[in-house]
Amino acid sequence: MAILITGIAELATCDDELEGADHADGLGLLHDAALVVGTEHEDVATTIKWVGPATGAPAADWAIDLGGKAVLPGFVDSHSHLVYAGDRSAEFAARMTGQRYDGGGIASTVSATRAADDDTLRALLRARVDEMRAQGTTTVEIKSGYGLTVHDETRMLRLAGEVTDEVTFLGGHVLPPGTGRSAGERSAYVDLVCGRMLQAATPHARWVDVFCEPASPHAFDEDEARTILAAGIAAGLLPRVHGNQLAPGPGVQLAVELGAASVDHCTYLSDADVDALAGAAGTTVATLLPGVEFSTRSPYPDARRLLDAGVDVALATDCNPGTCSSSSMSLMIALAVREMGMTPAEAVCAATLGAAKALRRDDIGRVRVGGPADLAVLDAPSYLHLPYRPGVPLARTLEV
Ligand SMILES: [Zn+2]
Repeated sequence: MAILITGIAELATCDDELEGADHADGLGLLHDAALVVGTEHEDVATTIKWVGPATGAPAADWAIDLGGKAVLPGFVDSHSHLVYAGDRSAEFAARMTGQRYDGGGIASTVSATRAADDDTLRALLRARVDEMRAQGTTTVEIKSGYGLTVHDETRMLRLAGEVTDEVTFLGGHVLPPGTGRSAGERSAYVDLVCGRMLQAATPHARWVDVFCEPASPHAFDEDEARTILAAGIAAGLLPRVHGNQLAPGPGVQLAVELGAASVDHCTYLSDADVDALAGAAGTTVATLLPGVEFSTRSPYPDARRLLDAGVDVALATDCNPGTCSSSSMSLMIALAVREMGMTPAEAVCAATLGAAKALRRDDIGRVRVGGPADLAVLDAPSYLHLPYRPGVPLARTLEV
């Protein structure tokens, strides 16, 4: 069945090859546009069959008139931690009165998550994915990392795999609560992550990630992070890295060295880090997570500096109970424009096409014939309203 969607005041395709589109700002814009979406099977994913000006739209079996709204690719949230129990709103409140974040609060989420049974975690997870979808996010990457035992990490990955294909093993999130600071205790945990835990995780994950942050006593240093990522790569997983969040550090260089798809946070970067990321364009994306800086009252990463250097940039939420409990990609776009020097068009690109690159996906993050009909619609005539009207729930997934 073919469905014609009209009444699209502005279609941001993020497709740089679309004929007749306005490519000046990188969004591949069409005005007064139409789409034809084909249903391959009943009740399952649909495919984009035609894109163009409304005046040239072909006939279809069914038509939907959006009445003058903006349509864009569904947001790709390439960094989240959605499998957890408990919340840390009190920690947030304490932080707002001056308490500093150093990664230590994760321990409380670990104990709540371990204590929750599968059905409880599943219900919490599904509600969070629904919440994202209701705000226009059509793809989400989900990490483990609150289990930190073979049993609990595997359980988290299995549950994440019920709702997304983009599942990331993050046994190297933090040292488990109760681990001593001695080199022997640290290396015993790294050995576990690289050994039995990785073995159990591999069938359930596509990615391996590590929190490489020597500035936090809870996270991993350069050698530990390299060991964990190398083991994951040897097991067939693809690497991505949490790096340079709390202070300058080795995360970016390690990500580039290992050909990681993405290095996430990138808040504190040296000139050499920016150069390395520019040289790795096409391979390693810098994923910026401004909800974290917002929620931890920290300086924002300098997106302008990265874009001007030619770095591939993505935006994602890092939605997690400790450092950013927002699932709103619209908020990330608004922050990126207000605080990080991105233009609205650059921010929308980073939240769609850029984040798709960070997941090594070329089927999503743009509106193109043959691709999935993963679309977001705005209760507004232009994408400009996303940063212009922050906090207003304009975006939702277009359900066809
Ligand atoms: Zn994260």
